[in-house]
Amino acid sequence: MPPKCIACTFSATKKHNPSDEFTVVYFRPTVDYPDSWTGHPENAEWFCAEHLPLAEGLTDLSALEAAKQIRAQLTQDKA
Ligand SMILES: [Zn+2]
Repeated sequence: MPPKCIACTFSATKKHNPSDEFTVVYFRPTVDYPDSWTGHPENAEWFCAEHLPLAEGLTDLSALEAAKQIRAQLTQDKA
């Protein structure tokens, strides 16, 4: 599955960003995984180049909290 920017999922009305440049951002972990665990951790989220700045300063939050803040910011932009 290709990476999906979480901010883009909140701003469906915006022009689609064709960039395929994605960066993974790690937020505050809320789950302890065993050392042998592999996969996509719940605190890691993908951001496209356009939305990567939105993650700045939010990495002390859990991914869920950060997603809420980002969604709020994107909703404000629209208003
Ligand atoms: Zn995006």
